[in-house]
Amino acid sequence: MTTSGEPPAALADSFRRLIRAHGPISLMQFMGESNAHYYSRREPFGEAGDFITAPEISQMFGELIGLWLADMWIRAGRTEPAHYVELGPGRGTLARDATRAMKRYGFEPRRHLVEGSVALRSEQLKQVPEAQFHDDLSSVPMEGPVLLVANEFLDALPVRQLVMTDHGWREVMIGLDGEDRFIEVPGQVPMDSAVPEARRDAPPGTVIETCPGAAATLFEVAGRLVKQGGAALFIDYGYATSRNGSSVQAVRAHRKVDWLAEPGVADISAHVDFAQCAAVAQSRGARWLGTSEQGAFLKALGIDARAETLASTAPQHREALMAARDRLTSPSEMGSLFKVLALTAPDWPDGAGF
Ligand code: SAH
Repeated sequence: MTTSGEPPAALADSFRRLIRAHGPISLMQFMGESNAHYYSRREPFGEAGDFITAPEISQMFGELIGLWLADMWIRAGRTEPAHYVELGPGRGTLARDATRAMKRYGFEPRRHLVEGSVALRSEQLKQVPEAQFHDDLSSVPMEGPVLLVANEFLDALPVRQLVMTDHGWREVMIGLDGEDRFIEVPGQVPMDSAVPEARRDAPPGTVIETCPGAAATLFEVAGRLVKQGGAALFIDYGYATSRNGSSVQAVRAHRKVDWLAEPGVADISAHVDFAQCAAVAQSRGARWLGTSEQGAFLKALGIDARAETLASTAPQHREALMAARDRLTSPSEMGSLFKVLALTAPDWPDGAGF
């Protein structure tokens, strides 16, 4: 499916009607509804789409993730039944490659895909015919270890922004200017109590971004690991220590675009605050193995050797394989910006790459 030739901007019109009738809506609502719309009716991935994710760059990515999860399960004692759980599986490529690699190590967990989009579920089913689908984690079985991965899932969850004004902290809302364009405006309601005391005293214009959906996800996954055993990898672009400022952006057809211009048409995302994610998971009792850069993680798992093996069996693809390896690991590409956060149950072993 191509991404050109959009139908009329129904979502933008409905936002405009809502704002005219009731005043500005929160940035969080704007982002949440835009992305629900975006993923429900588009095939955003790959060359013909809006962006390319790591599993779509090379099968090596999914294979190494599968290897990491299988290794954890084996060293933790091979408890059955075990569950492979993926959050936001996109086209299903990572699930397919990871489960194929696991099988080579004698690990054949049940496959659970947590996906909100009906359109994407049918794509995923083609890659993983045994998949069971879930709207959220709550229906994933409560018994047996969980081996979970989420790649570029957290960055799609809506963020809330608070801005320091001359009158104190306010939520960032979306209103309309004189020409009916969406603009950011400070809300009417004082929000000082929502800002941690240590960060409250800041110059006007300071923006604090939080992602309640990411915090809720980490809390729930950590709870599952503590109760059922298991390990989890969250891979995304973001920062290792919390910082101020807005990180909201939109991408369409591989270009950055104005995220306010066409809600539901471009993919809106935000950087993930990995320090916050680790703190939430630890508060629930899970063990945080660390947050590595994607490049270092894949190197530790042997991506160089894997690329060589694949190139020796298919010499005509050598150049493409090495280019894919570089794209995934080089600091000037995905290697440093993307991070891998690993969690385990308290009594599970250490993992490679941390
Ligand atoms: N992991 C894939 C896709 C990343 S795009 C890859 O790496 O290629 C984000 C994915 O998360 C999509 O599958 C999208 O439909 C899903 N998603 C976004 N918000 C969601 C939500 N609130 N609940 C469940 N899935 C969601």
